[in-house]
Amino acid sequence: MSEHVDTAVRGPQAYAIARQAIEAMESAKVWPTPLNFELWLHYISTPDSPLSQEMRRLLDMHTAFTDAVSESLATEFLPRSRLSEEIRDAGAVLNRELAAVAIAIDKAREIQVQYADTLSDAKVQLNQSVPPNPLVELVGTLSKATRRIQRHTVVLEKRLESSHTEVNKLRTHLEQVRRDAMTDALTNLANRKAFDEKLEALCASVDLTGATISLAVVDIDHFKRFNDTWGHQTGDQVLRYVASAIARITTSTRISARYGGEEFVIAFTEENVAQVEDILNTLRVDIASRALRRRSTNDDLGVVTISTGYATRQPKETPFELMERADAALYVSKRAGRNRTTSAEDAPKPKIVTTV
Ligand code: C2E
Repeated sequence: MSEHVDTAVRGPQAYAIARQAIEAMESAKVWPTPLNFELWLHYISTPDSPLSQEMRRLLDMHTAFTDAVSESLATEFLPRSRLSEEIRDAGAVLNRELAAVAIAIDKAREIQVQYADTLSDAKVQLNQSVPPNPLVELVGTLSKATRRIQRHTVVLEKRLESSHTEVNKLRTHLEQVRRDAMTDALTNLANRKAFDEKLEALCASVDLTGATISLAVVDIDHFKRFNDTWGHQTGDQVLRYVASAIARITTSTRISARYGGEEFVIAFTEENVAQVEDILNTLRVDIASRALRRRSTNDDLGVVTISTGYATRQPKETPFELMERADAALYVSKRAGRNRTTSAEDAPKPKIVTTV
């Protein structure tokens, strides 16, 4: 196992290095995926590192930089825990770089249009003002030169136009990659990382405004039994079913995520405790209101239920502490027989609500 490397590139040279990395990728016919960009940033900025030496060896052997090759380099050399952060950083640098290139392209096009107009005007003026005789030939030559430059300008414009399109495509692609990195692929809800970041930011902002946040943890009851009885594919459908009900109650001020396994989280920023409890109970009843069927065999899967626990944030409480209290309330719901909602306030004596 080779020694791990630091791939962060910051400081005054960062943009120049980013440009060189893109050029190097293009000349080596390597697609500018976020991971490749990260590898090549490192290759340009730290040419003597073990990772760069290995990349050079692969290039010398004319090895194609397929996704599998890049992934295996990343696995061997890049610190795993920081990988996605690094990719997002590199993506942001590339995005800024691309925006600057796009502006430069626009400016160049504008200048070229002005230049072509100036030449056309000069041609008209010369044709009008110069009397016949020795200057006629000169006018003809200038006109020809003008037309040639105009033709050239059109070619250059087309080339710039296509670069512009490529730049925009690349930027859209990077934005998609960044969105994917924050989304749980199975359920399309936000993933744990995205939620942690948002909750952290929310807590910091309500410390300033004095607003309230409540956090709910939602867990599918007997999910393991579903998986063991009906298989993982059906288990996945159950996750999607619950996620879809959670997505229906998600708004711009009520954020949700699949937190891991069969556990989901919802952060409420505008509701008081009674409203939070109401919404969670409505969600719980909604989810339990349908009997699911196994798609492949039409077997009756029965009803899916959820248990929830929620806590309202106390002043200065960290997201971790808030989550711990919501988790403790969830645990009380589970212990009390599942398919119920418990507030952290009631955690020692769980409040049992009507089950369906
Ligand atoms: P999906 O299969 O992609 O279905 C998405 C949405 O299409 C469903 O959202 C529902 O509104 C509609 N839909 C799909 N199939 C049917 C159908 O046969 N009848 C009706 N009336 N509507 C249908 P919904 O209900 O929120 O479900 C979200 C996801 O949960 C589904 O995604 C699927 O993955 C899972 N799911 C829901 N019900 C069942 C079920 O009975 N059996 C299984 N295996 N999975 C289910």
